[in-house]
Amino acid sequence: MNVLLVSTFEGGFQPTTIATAATSLMKEGFNVSVLDTYVDGIIEDKFQGNDLIAISVPLFDAVHAGIEIAKLAAKVNPEAHITFFGQHATINATRLAGKYSDSCICGEWEYPLTLLTKHLNGDIQEDLPGVLSGEQAMKGNSIHPYMSRDHLDVPSRHILPPLHKYPQKQINRLLGSEQIVGSTEIARGCHHKCLYCSVFAAYDGKVILVNEEIVIQDVKNLVEGGMTHLTFVDADFFNAKYHGIKILRKLHQQFPNLTYDFTTRVDHILENKETLAEMKQLGVKFITSALEFPSKEVLDAVAKDTSIEDITEAIAYLREIDIKLNPTFIMFNPWTSLDDIVTFRTFVEDNALGDLVDPIQYETRLYLYKGSPLLHKESIQSLDLTEYEFHYDWKHPDPKLDELYYEMLTPPEEGIFKRCCLKC
Ligand code: SF4
Repeated sequence: MNVLLVSTFEGGFQPTTIATAATSLMKEGFNVSVLDTYVDGIIEDKFQGNDLIAISVPLFDAVHAGIEIAKLAAKVNPEAHITFFGQHATINATRLAGKYSDSCICGEWEYPLTLLTKHLNGDIQEDLPGVLSGEQAMKGNSIHPYMSRDHLDVPSRHILPPLHKYPQKQINRLLGSEQIVGSTEIARGCHHKCLYCSVFAAYDGKVILVNEEIVIQDVKNLVEGGMTHLTFVDADFFNAKYHGIKILRKLHQQFPNLTYDFTTRVDHILENKETLAEMKQLGVKFITSALEFPSKEVLDAVAKDTSIEDITEAIAYLREIDIKLNPTFIMFNPWTSLDDIVTFRTFVEDNALGDLVDPIQYETRLYLYKGSPLLHKESIQSLDLTEYEFHYDWKHPDPKLDELYYEMLTPPEEGIFKRCCLKC
């Protein structure tokens, strides 16, 4: 069996999702090749000669591009079985399978994808956990996402484009030098349930830890690939309180010059002050945190479970221990008023965030993807919504806010990521 794994966009990082899928498939003896269109563009020849074409859609931004790939792959190679996998495949399985693909993987993908390949090879006949078939989807059926803690393995990075093909402007800006950036994760999912978040939509509060040995071997491979700075792309690095610090201690021993960043919540910054001070010594240079918007109404509306006072304290603490903050916002959302925009500017000035904020953050807009838990909220249902296949456009109750948004909006630029975090 020949399997092609395709990635279109993984936040501008080397696509770990296809690297972990590749390991599982190769261990079973299947021939695996990869195409990352973010780096290599669309190479039609790659679709030929494959029995299975599996397209990764970890982010909302990858869904439409993934569909275009699926259509082209079906045209070039009509015999191939086409499937989707990744976080937004889980969220959109019933919208993708049957219409754009022969099946869709729900939940963790490595094991179901390998089972599907075996099935297509005639090795197994039984039901395939985590695989929604096109027939099931067309009948209106859905399945439970596959969740398991023991299926993870070291990503096969050697089959991916090299790390230097994934430059990260904001990281270079924050670190003040050109870096070769790699990424890995120490866990998937998130314990929290912020209402707009696609991690919540896909994992429903569950967390799957990646074991220490796997992470350390992956980092070793990344360092051999030239990595000078590592981004932990976990939804929240403190999903397990001690997992991150234990790993960082070991990594620092082996790679004393390596630097790091990760994403975590304001409340975790405040709960883990001592640990963060130690992490600074171990090479952590900056932390991304979704501050959302400095307004109680917005924080409550998305169930962020934090306050403006906590945010201010977290900013001050990171400054005290000299870890930079990379703040992210949902700048345009239905709950802010024009006055709040003025308050926002004051907040940025008062907290001296001007030099830190990635300018793209000033034009982030709440995404209402289908499957978003926010859609159950009355304040969202009462908006003027326009339905699309995978999302809703919303209008602000005050048209001046939308005018301001469209005035500020810069044209999309390749590799620029207009989201609050890497997992959304
Ligand atoms: S926004 Fe962050 S903390 Fe909240 S559920 Fe999503 S990943 Fe977890």
